[in-house]
Amino acid sequence: MINKEKIEELMSINGQVKDVVFQTDADYILKKYGEEGLAKLEKKAEELNIPINYKEANSLKLCPIGLRVLSLLLMRDVFGLSDSEIREIGYSAPATSFVVKLLMRFLSSFSRLAKEVPNYWKNHYTIGSLESVYLNEKTKDLIVHLKDFKVDPILCIYFEGYFRRIYEFAVGFGNGECKETKCMFKGAPYHEYVFRTRK
Ligand SMILES: [Zn+2]
Repeated sequence: MINKEKIEELMSINGQVKDVVFQTDADYILKKYGEEGLAKLEKKAEELNIPINYKEANSLKLCPIGLRVLSLLLMRDVFGLSDSEIREIGYSAPATSFVVKLLMRFLSSFSRLAKEVPNYWKNHYTIGSLESVYLNEKTKDLIVHLKDFKVDPILCIYFEGYFRRIYEFAVGFGNGECKETKCMFKGAPYHEYVFRTRK
């Protein structure tokens, strides 16, 4: 549950993200729970004094990374979402983000995708770094490490879905898998995501 301490802890984290994330969160809620659902989410945010404006999310503006986490935690609390639904929110995000649409042309081939990974991260987040540490052109296997980014475990789940969708721009829609195999919240020095195609 979200309480005052949790909000303060998250809001004190140094780092920012493009606020397009609230647009993609709102799109998911609208699709699944309609206007009524979004109104419920906005009301809860207001009650807790969490300054998220779902309707005026502007892709180019930066906002505190703590707010991004709070949006996901709010959705989980208000709608009782499971981990697989958090993954689903991540998975649906790249399809509705105009930032991603602009980048699509870079993501259309596997080797370019792997090469663009660090830039892609920097384009969205002011902290942490994302690196491809292994790629196999033939099998399309890919391993990436997310470093210097210990924000909240809900993002680890969200990214499994989000990264999977990005990977599928290169390997085909519905044809990718992504699993977090190492995690900073479980003592590893970075988060590791392993990608492969469904065989
Ligand atoms: Zn993790």
